[in-house]
Amino acid sequence: MPSFIGAIDNGTTSSRFLIFDEKGNLVIGHQLEYRQIFPHPGWVEHDPMDILGSVTACIEGALRKFELQGNDVKNLRGIGITNQRETAVVWDRTTGKPLHNAIVWSDTRTQDVVTKLCESSDKGTDALKDICGLPLTTYFSAVKLKWLLENSSEVKEAHENGNLMFGTVDSWLIYNLTGGKEGGVHVTDVTNASRTMLMDIKTLQWSEEALKFFGINADILPEIKPSSTLFGKVQHPALEQLQDVPIAGCLGDQHAALVGQHCFQVGEAKNTYGTGCFMLFNTGSKITPSNNGLLTTVGYQFEGEPAAYALEGSIAVAGSAVKWLRDNMGIIRSAEEINDLAAQVDSNGGVVFVTAFSGLFAPYWRPDVRGSIVGISQHTTKHHLARATLEATCFQTRAILDAMNADSGHPLATLRVDGGLSNSDLCMQLQSNILGLEVARPQMRESTALGAATAAGVHLGIGIWKGGFKAFAERARESKEVLQIFTPKINDEEREKEYALWQKAIDTTIGVKS
Ligand code: ADP
Repeated sequence: MPSFIGAIDNGTTSSRFLIFDEKGNLVIGHQLEYRQIFPHPGWVEHDPMDILGSVTACIEGALRKFELQGNDVKNLRGIGITNQRETAVVWDRTTGKPLHNAIVWSDTRTQDVVTKLCESSDKGTDALKDICGLPLTTYFSAVKLKWLLENSSEVKEAHENGNLMFGTVDSWLIYNLTGGKEGGVHVTDVTNASRTMLMDIKTLQWSEEALKFFGINADILPEIKPSSTLFGKVQHPALEQLQDVPIAGCLGDQHAALVGQHCFQVGEAKNTYGTGCFMLFNTGSKITPSNNGLLTTVGYQFEGEPAAYALEGSIAVAGSAVKWLRDNMGIIRSAEEINDLAAQVDSNGGVVFVTAFSGLFAPYWRPDVRGSIVGISQHTTKHHLARATLEATCFQTRAILDAMNADSGHPLATLRVDGGLSNSDLCMQLQSNILGLEVARPQMRESTALGAATAAGVHLGIGIWKGGFKAFAERARESKEVLQIFTPKINDEEREKEYALWQKAIDTTIGVKS
């Protein structure tokens, strides 16, 4: 009998449910966008019920297609989950219902909370860096949770009377998919926990010191588990066909992409170009602190294995800048059109677009700055702007890679890429030019979902994932994967000239506060 694994992928703007066969081939999927809520400039919320509803609807949609292909749902042996990270969800233990909209990772409302927290420690931004590997910024979940405790009387009350449950989106989904208030499990995995600022990355347990720092009670937190283990079994009224199917994998989306791209060796890295853009560089069992604005994070942990750590460079705005050209400027009608537009000119014509819509993440960490377009002249057209939009992510990736080489002492040879924006050949060529490196793109670009399916497949010992993590990683290393390679088409002198223009634009932008 054939075996299949399902992957729930909750991204920032849409959810997907993808089904893989036992060889790791994508069989079928269903995707739905869900509501983005922008109550004020800089605020980004999701309704947790919308997230859950989109996930169950995607599962139903994908299962229908799966059956129409002549497959039997009984052969779906397990499920992996991957999700947008850092986004904070709070719900009530007695009703199982959300107490507030989820505060999304890119939301910057917590700037004042961050400033006060920094002032409360003589280490400033680095107050908890030794514990969790992260700087204090608006990005991470604990800061968002603190804002909720200070600004929502319902959340505050539930915290005081022991009724509050907190989690990242993985916890919210697993809780609901395993029964909700009727016995749903309250769990998370090490990768999602490593983005809260509350986990000690050495012990992989919640840190009492961090909890005290934020004034958070331990009883609201989920149990931390490895990324590949039994999390629970499906018990959900809308998913009767999946009753008792094990949820056996869980990773934050960027960590799942690291697994899906098979970056299991020290020094291997991937860059995922989605709404934002995130590079993860595997540092193995070594926790590598950053002196250059990167984050230290957990890469993944398979049950019975030590955790693999990673250095991460995060860019807040990548594909969302393409969306902005479409939705706010009306310059393009679809995301793909940016490529035709940008290809009509052979350079940016001196235009540099710093897409700091909600501040700048790594390696700059300036939540206070806003975007700018510099170098505009009479000669500038929408074509130059389109090209500058694609280049913005490529230049920030260069800044991150320079920092990674400095921190890790391991110069990267090839960058593996995936995510929506990596579909753009032009963008990937520009990326190779700007880095002076090979950029390798796999044929199957759903690396995030594949990573979640891999975590579940390894735990369940199915198909290509049989024999445990080490055996699978070894086979993945030896397999000849088909990759499309982009090689640099400009020389070092041209490359450095282009990059110098970006650095100048950054200096100008950082001077322009919101
Ligand atoms: P997420 O998982 O963060 O929701 P995706 O990986 O689905 O994001 O990527 C979606 C982003 O990629 C969108 O912002 C879209 O603008 C961009 N995108 C998708 N396809 C293309 C393309 N062919 N060219 C340029 N941009 C694209």
